[in-house]
Amino acid sequence: MSKLVEWASMNLSPINKFFSLFSHDIGIDLGTANTLVFVKDKGIVIREPSVVAKHKKTKKVIAIGTDAKKMLGKTPASILTIRPLRGGVIADFDATEAMIAHYIKQVHEMGRTLPRLLARPKVVIGIPSAVTEVERRAVWEAALSAGAREAFLIEEPMAAAIGEGISIFQSKGSMVVDIGGGTTEIAVISLGGIVVGRSIKLAGDDMDQSILHYIRLRHGLIIGERTSEEIKMRIGSAYKKNSKFKTSPKGILGQNSKVKEEEKAESKNIQGNPHLEKMMIIRGRDIETGLPRSLKITEAEIRESLSPILTQITQTVADVLEETPPELLPDILEQGVLLTGGGANLSGLDLLLAERIHMPVVVSNDSLTSVVRGTGKVLEDPELLERVKVIGGLR
Ligand code: ADP
Ligand code: MG
Repeated sequence: MSKLVEWASMNLSPINKFFSLFSHDIGIDLGTANTLVFVKDKGIVIREPSVVAKHKKTKKVIAIGTDAKKMLGKTPASILTIRPLRGGVIADFDATEAMIAHYIKQVHEMGRTLPRLLARPKVVIGIPSAVTEVERRAVWEAALSAGAREAFLIEEPMAAAIGEGISIFQSKGSMVVDIGGGTTEIAVISLGGIVVGRSIKLAGDDMDQSILHYIRLRHGLIIGERTSEEIKMRIGSAYKKNSKFKTSPKGILGQNSKVKEEEKAESKNIQGNPHLEKMMIIRGRDIETGLPRSLKITEAEIRESLSPILTQITQTVADVLEETPPELLPDILEQGVLLTGGGANLSGLDLLLAERIHMPVVVSNDSLTSVVRGTGKVLEDPELLERVKVIGGLR
């Protein structure tokens, strides 16, 4: 932004200027699984699960975030734990609003350096791109009623790309695949806009469900969602690591990309012992006796259970590439496809995807924070915000 424009906008909004003295401007990644909050000049200050616990009858919010997640699956009949954004759509507007308000308040209570009554922050929120127009408006209003003086929404894949330092305004194409809890967002970005995009309701949660069903069917053992998520994180894998296929990631993230040293070390290990696969002992309830039982489960089994989901995700990425204007393909090929979101951490997923789409895949080295870091950058750059915002300043 030129100095003149900056000067003019400052002068046009003396009220904004006034409130900004008492407020921390914040960026929020309103994810289906996790909500992260970035505060200008401070960095990421909040990372909590997107879960709200409510009293069933009175609808009063009892807990938000980690405290509410601890209650998942353990609540008495009078308490309801909800994930308000579960399928990438806003399932519960009140809970979403409560969450946004809670975090805005929390940020302003931290340190208590600014008078809270005057806290009217500017807020940038990253939302799943599948969220409808009506829902977007609802989130926007929620932020305003939670005390924001201005609220802006940006689409998550765009925020993720910005967060990873991809220069989105170039006439070069970049591709982002963001695998979260409830949704996988796939987007090809060029000249500051999404050229081809797809958001599917198939992501980390579905992987957990697949594992859960697999173990019940194969081993007659009932486990909960939290256990199956833990299995996925600890021994989950997408790709059997003895294939000769190699990716050659370079470009897209420069030095930021996860150095493949780790992978080299791993492949050495595998050469030494080709059957070296992880395993884990889990506990659950026997489907027949109804009593607790332990079971040893292997990486190969989990890979098998995840396979149908991963096939669908990689197929959708391939479909998006098929719809991508051919002029952008050489850029994507050169830079690699950016794989981010919590699901990007699934071992071997980059290799599986690279094999399916015949393109190099680069995993973000901090995939859970790409979107929130993007909202932070947008917050600090009014010109960028102007170009990428979906809704903002409507009032
Ligand atoms: P969202 O943006 O939808 O809130 P996130 O990007 O925070 O989602 O990712 C959350 C998902 O990532 C969850 O399903 C979680 O189980 C999954 N996840 C996190 N770490 C790992 C891991 N190491 N391996 C596999 N999945 C993971
Ligand atoms: Mg996300």
